[in-house]
Parts: sequence; C-alpha cells; structure tokens
Amino acid sequence: MSMELEPFVFRHEGTVIGMRTNPEAGPASDEEVLLAAVNRFALRPLRRDEFAVFSLDLCHNQIDKHFSRFPDEELEKIDRMTPGRPLMERHDLRGSLPRGTFFRSQLHRDEARLAVRPDVYVLRTAENTDFILNIEGGVYRETSIGFSFRLPECSICGKDIRTCDHVPGRSYGQQLCYFTMRDVLDVIEGSVVPSGSQGTGFVTQERALALPAALEAARKAYHMPIEVHGGVEDAPEARALLEAMEAHRLAPGQVAQAVDDGLEARRRAVERFCGLGRELDGLAFDETVWRRTLEPLTLREIHRHLSAYEIRFDQKYPPQPVSRPEPLPDSGPKGVSERAMAILRA
Ligand SMILES: [Zn+2]
Repeated sequence: MSMELEPFVFRHEGTVIGMRTNPEAGPASDEEVLLAAVNRFALRPLRRDEFAVFSLDLCHNQIDKHFSRFPDEELEKIDRMTPGRPLMERHDLRGSLPRGTFFRSQLHRDEARLAVRPDVYVLRTAENTDFILNIEGGVYRETSIGFSFRLPECSICGKDIRTCDHVPGRSYGQQLCYFTMRDVLDVIEGSVVPSGSQGTGFVTQERALALPAALEAARKAYHMPIEVHGGVEDAPEARALLEAMEAHRLAPGQVAQAVDDGLEARRRAVERFCGLGRELDGLAFDETVWRRTLEPLTLREIHRHLSAYEIRFDQKYPPQPVSRPEPLPDSGPKGVSERAMAILRA
C-alpha cells in the first residue's frame, strides 16, 4: 500500500540535565562564548546576569521506554534544528508564552549512546522568577519536546509502523519490535514540565500527543474501517466513534466521507472567521492567535465565534435584499407588466 501518511507529530520526553546559573562557574573564555551564543538571538546585547542557562537532554539513539529510537543521522538533524526554537512552560491547558529560547545545541556521545543536548536561556525577568526557581529547585525536571517525522519505521518489517500490525515492545522470535524515527521534519518547541507528570495529562489537548498516544491515534485512524469491527470496541475512542456512528446513522463505509466533510466544514468556518476578522479589525486581528484558539474547539463552538463576527459584519455592511423588483418595460398596447399580472391572477 503506497498511501501517503501525514507527518507523525508527537511529544518526546527528556530531562533537564544541568544549569549554569553562576557566572563565575566556568573559565572566562567559556563565558564569553556563551554570551556571544545567546546574543545571536537577542536584539540588544544581554549581560550575563540577565539570563539563566539550562542544558537539556532532548533525545538519544537508544531504544527508549516507548520502544522508539532515533538513528544518528536524525539526531544530527535535530541538533541543527533546535537552536532558535522556543522553550515553553506547560502546566495549563492552553499552553503559555515562551519562557526561553534554545540558543545552541551539541551532540553528546557516551560510548554507544548519542544524545542531543541543547542549551536554553531564560531571561531573569520578574515573570520568570518562579519558573527559573522551579527548574533550579528540581521541580521542573522533565522536558517534553514536540517533533514531527515522516516515517516511524517498524524494526520487524521495515514498513511505517502505523500501517503494520507489529506491536512495539513485543518480541517476534528473537527480535524486539521498536520503531526508528526517520525523516525528521521539524522540532516544534520544547517544554519544561513538573517531574513525574510525563506531560500526558495536558499534552493530549494539543496537536502533538505524547508518543504512545500519538502512535495509538495514528494507527487507529489508519486501521479504523477494519478495527471498528475488530474487537477494539472497548477502547474509549472506538466506543465514542461507534456512538457517533449510531447517533448519525452512519454505516462504516460512510465514516471516511463524514470525517472529510467535517474537517472541510471546520476549515471553511475558520477561513471565514479569519476573513471577517481581517475585514473588521484589520491589523488588530491576530490571526495566529485566533487560529490556535479555534483549533481545539468543536465546530459548534467555532460557529459561535463566527456568528459574533457575522453580526458585527452585518452591522457594518447591512445586507441588501437578494433581488429588487424591476419595472418591466411596457411594449405594445397591452403592457408586459399587465400581461404578467394577468398570468399571476389566473
Ligand atoms: Zn511491522
């Protein structure tokens, strides 16, 4: 099967491995290099006491607890992509503002283990005080990074693991099934999260799911027409799907079309909303923020926002009647309009 799958977007956990908060810690030359690296991203040169620096261990080439691994060449790519990406703090559902910026990254080899270890700087503003303290104090010890890939490759059959039936973590003969992440497209952002949270509780609200959930969702989507009758009715997602099918009297063969239609309706509603927003609010309309706000909402909720804008739009440009009566030209002794009226009266 040569169906092109969407890029695989997911979150991957890492750890905060250290901090360099004491300007006197390293040799002077190291500090100069550090300052220069940070200042490549700042609009005015920052002083060393204006920011804190943390090192993170993002990902590595070993098989991890989710039975996934990165090949060395993809780690090199991630290493190049990470500088400039934002570091977020994530303990609320909506996400939040960036707290820091990844400003450099290096590959760290420890025998067979190769890891991507970027450094991030966080400004010592009043707003960031608690955030920095939480990292320094070891409360925020874990990281969660959003990636997108083209191909999670199955170690058993070499296919896209979303399309085969091998189960990561299970052994087939002598061979362990895991998947290799190939064709990295982007590093989206990094987050720091309280230790032990694994990010799963709130991360599922976002586009990038925690790795096991992302794989499960991707597989489910791919296998849906088969799995709906394949005994996975106990899974909550499958049950919700079956209920929706029942409520809307959908046969399994109609589900794909319904999903297409639903997504198309969403897309149109969002486009119309943004079009009206640009028209009504001009530069004050922050399209990026609105798109992000609308993304997790249901179509009904999107329509609620949309109708608020439609009302404003109608006030600004009152709707014209669709057709206006036009006087018909009279021709001959018996006018056309008179004949028309006669027809109507008949
Ligand atoms: Zn396979």
